[in-house]
Amino acid sequence: MVSRVIPVDPFDLVIFGGTGDLARRKILPGLFRRFCAGQMPKGARVIGAARGDMDSAAYRDFVAEAIAEFGGIHSCEEGTLAGFLERMEFVTIDARGDKGWDELAKLVRPDVVRAYYFSVGPSLFADLAHRLNAHGLTDADSRIVVEKPFGRDLPSAKALNRDLAMHFDESQIYRIDHYLGKETVQNLMAVRFGNMLFEPLWNSQYVDHIQITVAETVGVGGRGEYYDKSGAMRDMVQNHLMQLLCLIAMEPPSKFDPDAVRDEKLKVIRALDDVEPYHIVRGQYEASESEPGYREAVGDPRTRTESYIAMKVGISNWRWAGTPFYLRTGKMLKARSSEITVVFKELNHSIFGEQSDHRNVLSIRLQPNEGITLGVTIKEPGPGGMRLVDVPLDMSFAEALGADGADQTDAYERLIMDVIRGNQTLFMRGDEVEAAWAWTDPIINGWEARGEVPKTYDAGSEGPVDAVQLLARDTRVWRKVAP
Ligand code: NAD
Repeated sequence: MVSRVIPVDPFDLVIFGGTGDLARRKILPGLFRRFCAGQMPKGARVIGAARGDMDSAAYRDFVAEAIAEFGGIHSCEEGTLAGFLERMEFVTIDARGDKGWDELAKLVRPDVVRAYYFSVGPSLFADLAHRLNAHGLTDADSRIVVEKPFGRDLPSAKALNRDLAMHFDESQIYRIDHYLGKETVQNLMAVRFGNMLFEPLWNSQYVDHIQITVAETVGVGGRGEYYDKSGAMRDMVQNHLMQLLCLIAMEPPSKFDPDAVRDEKLKVIRALDDVEPYHIVRGQYEASESEPGYREAVGDPRTRTESYIAMKVGISNWRWAGTPFYLRTGKMLKARSSEITVVFKELNHSIFGEQSDHRNVLSIRLQPNEGITLGVTIKEPGPGGMRLVDVPLDMSFAEALGADGADQTDAYERLIMDVIRGNQTLFMRGDEVEAAWAWTDPIINGWEARGEVPKTYDAGSEGPVDAVQLLARDTRVWRKVAP
């Protein structure tokens, strides 16, 4: 199977924050991989723009180092790194002052696609939008890419949307949630809407419940201070898990078109029930042998921020009323694993007598080992009557698709190319983000008002014991957190 690479139009991509951690680890190596794949046409250029004093030659060295460290340089033909670096320029710029803007205006070409990646802290988004406009660097076809976090609550998200809307139309704003750029997340839509098999069963009549797990083995590391201001709810649930929930639960859009898809996602968010406090379990990890516990890592022994959250969520619409969605995410857990599991109901009637509790389970693995497993019930082999056993129909994308399945284009590089193509399907719309905060805010405000203290859990475990109870109360169990 050969994947098709369609070159994009010539572009100037300006990366504000071009010397930052995200640029170094993800954006620049990702662009290099696209260059290697032949997707960057001759007229494509990348302009780093950041605060430090640096010239273009020094920036090329910086980019080369980033690629050597994070880029999988071996995948490119010899010599092409030099060709890629020739496309790099650098401008020292101050988002809050005048420095560098005239120089940038001279560099950026008006006759190619102009994309501006805001890979800086959100407090600079409004300044950048304003200065881009004031220096005549934009037209109706220019785009901006905005990193997360998009606000920390509804008022701040609204303010950001307002600031950006003063200078850009919604069709020009690309709010990144890199989860949406993951191959398997897009596969969720392909599985649901490209097969006859699943969609007729995709409702509360046939689905008992759905679990969404995003488990990490790492702790907060050096990001403790930043993380402690957000916590798992703001950092993961409000954006990544919410997006997964939307793709799993939404109605089929009439076509695979940005607004058709985003309209359907928005309807899901608006149909989410308020969550009762006893349907939420929050946790903080304890120290392991090698790493400090959460409170120590963030430097605040009394912090009430959660590094783990599990919750039971309901969706009040015709398709899903009565089917709970259980979400959980956390740090320092047993395994790194992101998985969505659809647990179907038991048969209404078994012709095999008392052998109950056989049910189909569809599991979609986002990472690692992307793939799909469908649990089916068959006869246990051998003589001795009709005994049933559940076995997995297991498909790893890497195995099924050969080299292309293994060659997982990174989410960032896919999304940047979508920006250049002008395709917003995998980006969050302003009203989606606001709706997500409108649902999240009362939950967080409730914890704060009640002064709730998270439970503790052992590093390397599956989370707090109370999370087990959350499902046990409904006579259900979590899937194992396993790689
Ligand atoms: P960073 O602190 O490593 O880099 C910040 C960059 O912004 C630097 O290049 C710096 O020179 C530039 N900068 C700061 N102030 C400036 C100013 N006044 N004018 C011009 N440039 C200025 O940050 P990062 O980790 O690269 O994160 C960038 C953004 O991406 C943040 O919004 C962050 O939340 C988001 N993000 C980062 C990651 C990640 O893995 N690092 C993941 C998801 C989202």
